[in-house]
Amino acid sequence: MQVDLIIQARWIIPVEPAGVIHENHSLVVDDGKIVDLLESAAASEKYQARAVEHLDSHVLIPGLINCHTHAAMSLLSGIADDLPLMDWLQNHIWPAEQKWVSEAFVRDGTDLAIAEMLRGGTTCFNDMYFFPDIAAQQAVAHGIRANIGLIVFDFPTVWAENADVYLSKALDLHDGLRHERLISTSFAPHAPYTVSDEPLRKMLTFADELDATIHMHVHETRHEVEEQRQKTGHTPLRRLHELGLLTPSFMAVHMTQLSPEEILFYAETGGHIVHCPESNLKLASGFCPVAACLDAGINVALGTDGAASNNDQDMLAEMRVAALLAKGVSGNASAVSAMQALQMATLNGAKALGLDDKIGSLAVGKAADVVAVDLSEVETQPVFNPLAQLVYAASRHQVSDVWVAGKRLLNKRQLTTLDLQDLRQRAAIWQQRLAEF
Ligand SMILES: [Zn+2]
Repeated sequence: MQVDLIIQARWIIPVEPAGVIHENHSLVVDDGKIVDLLESAAASEKYQARAVEHLDSHVLIPGLINCHTHAAMSLLSGIADDLPLMDWLQNHIWPAEQKWVSEAFVRDGTDLAIAEMLRGGTTCFNDMYFFPDIAAQQAVAHGIRANIGLIVFDFPTVWAENADVYLSKALDLHDGLRHERLISTSFAPHAPYTVSDEPLRKMLTFADELDATIHMHVHETRHEVEEQRQKTGHTPLRRLHELGLLTPSFMAVHMTQLSPEEILFYAETGGHIVHCPESNLKLASGFCPVAACLDAGINVALGTDGAASNNDQDMLAEMRVAALLAKGVSGNASAVSAMQALQMATLNGAKALGLDDKIGSLAVGKAADVVAVDLSEVETQPVFNPLAQLVYAASRHQVSDVWVAGKRLLNKRQLTTLDLQDLRQRAAIWQQRLAEF
């Protein structure tokens, strides 16, 4: 049988079924999809491929899903550091954004982030930023998968002047992107403290009609929760529940402030959590009690958050920090195993985005979003367990090859749809402009 591609790998961790690690197996790809996963000897007998890739010291994993970012903020990486959230936002990030964010800023920043993400094994990102039309356009241009946030705020920004305009632009963009194979959309109201009840109610009506997911920062800091509690007597999470937002289509990003009762109550709603441990640590926002959330049956995905608060888009590092932090916070070394960390960075992200029928694991019928990590470097020798080396020791420089929907976007460390020199030049121009600010 003729197929497009066979990837022979030393190890394959398909994520589904959980815990399985294949040795000397091949992933068979045709027409952008995974059509088989079998022993390499059997694969070469059964299939004739137009291309065969031999990855003899590599582990193949599903493409990593960065379930929360603001991609274009890569241009603000390192602009203000070592500050708490509100000081950082109000005195540094928001003023810089107000002055500089434009279509060109979002184009160049998103390109920079896409290059970084692909070189680190991320094949899909869940974005929330101004000019989401431009972010979608750049994702399509470079062949990466993206879920684009249709942003909503109460106040005017460069994207829209009031809540009604945000919503009408959201609907137009959702409609305009319907036929893009690699693009999906979510409504993305920024946070409980930046969007009031009325626009949230209107948005929910549209989200229900379109069967759309919702992506929102929730309980990022103690300050956010306390302020709301003092004003209204209950928490932002409770308010969102009363408005009807909390359903299996809801992604709550951060959730660092959760009581045991809230964990149980949120689990019942079927909502997802997107955990961003590095951003939470850097802004000293607190810790999402991930082990308790997983125990309660909540689907927990992983994100980097924007590069201004991280300061990178490195999902391998995010996995490691998530696993280590969960152990530290829960006082239990078994909390968030290496397998669970990889699930959070892949399949759980796909579930949160409502895309788990398409991506998130190396299963027959799913899209060939595949990442190869070379474990032959001395830093990851010896390999008793490729999963442990991947999560606890490997660095993103060991990501050698990346495919999205069967298309090779990283070929032996070389990007195939982006030019590094061009990216460096554009980043330098923005650095100069922002430095003058
Ligand atoms: Zn964020």
